[in-house]
Amino acid sequence: MKTNYFIEKSGAYLQTLCETIPGRCVGSHGNRMATDFFQSTLEALGWETRTSGFDATDWETQGASLKGGGQEFEVFSSPYSNGCNLSAKLKPASTIQELEETDMEGCILLLHGDIAAEQLMPKNFVFYNPEHHQKIISCLEKGKPAAIVSATGFNPELAGGVYPFPLIEDGDFDIPSVYTTEEEGEKLLKLSGSEVTLISQAERIPGKGFNVLGVKGKNPNKRLVITAHIDAKKGTPGAIDNASGVIVLLLIAEMMKDYDGDTMVELVAFNGEDYYAVPGQMLYIAENQGLFDQILLNINIDGAGYFEGGSAYSLFELPEKMDEKVREVMQPLENFVEGPQWPQGDHSIFVQFGCPAVAFTSQWFLDNMSTQRITHTPEDHPRIINLQRPVEIASAICTLIAKLE
Ligand SMILES: [Zn+2]
Repeated sequence: MKTNYFIEKSGAYLQTLCETIPGRCVGSHGNRMATDFFQSTLEALGWETRTSGFDATDWETQGASLKGGGQEFEVFSSPYSNGCNLSAKLKPASTIQELEETDMEGCILLLHGDIAAEQLMPKNFVFYNPEHHQKIISCLEKGKPAAIVSATGFNPELAGGVYPFPLIEDGDFDIPSVYTTEEEGEKLLKLSGSEVTLISQAERIPGKGFNVLGVKGKNPNKRLVITAHIDAKKGTPGAIDNASGVIVLLLIAEMMKDYDGDTMVELVAFNGEDYYAVPGQMLYIAENQGLFDQILLNINIDGAGYFEGGSAYSLFELPEKMDEKVREVMQPLENFVEGPQWPQGDHSIFVQFGCPAVAFTSQWFLDNMSTQRITHTPEDHPRIINLQRPVEIASAICTLIAKLE
């Protein structure tokens, strides 16, 4: 294989996705540039492509401020939140019970402690939505506070490496909100019962997004679906999350440009893994209603290519024969280890629909999931990518496809 050639390609793709394109969050112009780039690259390599579009709200903020008792507190607009400019009484709540007992209508509600320990799942996020999250959201909507301030800790498993993290990140939740650190929250608590002024200069902007799909192969009843999400969180170049995954798809497209086998290979740039409403994934599910039986295997790449350590592959519900073949291909390969199953990726959708799946990521991320401070931050930068890793993963996947044929 022309390894050096593909490593150079990886570098060029990484630069396009993370530097030329100004951010890939869903609904933004950069996001559409990225899906256009993916589609035109696949077409130039002879793949038949299809796009499907959906409405997606983009969002901007010019900052936020909170003043009271002669002090100013550092707060940040919650992503996708409506803006506000108001003065009202500050009321705190740290548990669901306190929330239920607080008359919060028209107040500025301070959520702190237990209730702000983990990011609340968006209202319309169907894949995982614990009952206590739904209860908090419905309490808030019934209670009608004028705005919400949340003081949150460090919780990388649910919020990436971001601190403080936004308790609420949901374009379908209309009460304006901001978030701050635990330390600021402590200071704010002393102002409970007095009037504070909150300004959040945030704005929702209607936009569009697309999934892009490329296919090769003859038999639509035997599909091998290879996925990587192309969107990135706002405020991050999204190198490892997930430009590297998209690069793997683009490299496979080139390595398999002459493919003409029976199994239909489908390369899917999913749009919305890091966006509150996961619109691309929801659309793909709707379009494939009743068709998941055709899918022999999903291979998903997310978080791959970290400069430290090798890649990890995790296996989900593989039938015995396939399990054997996958291990035969993967075990002898250098720079790969078998990793534990992890649910935070698009392969979980396929697993939920009864399809076997293989997920690729960086071994380092599996080992440091609960302490890392990279995902969803500016630290997720092209400099942390080992360009050789996407090439190794793409080549392993091509070998796997040939083996499964
Ligand atoms: Zn991701």
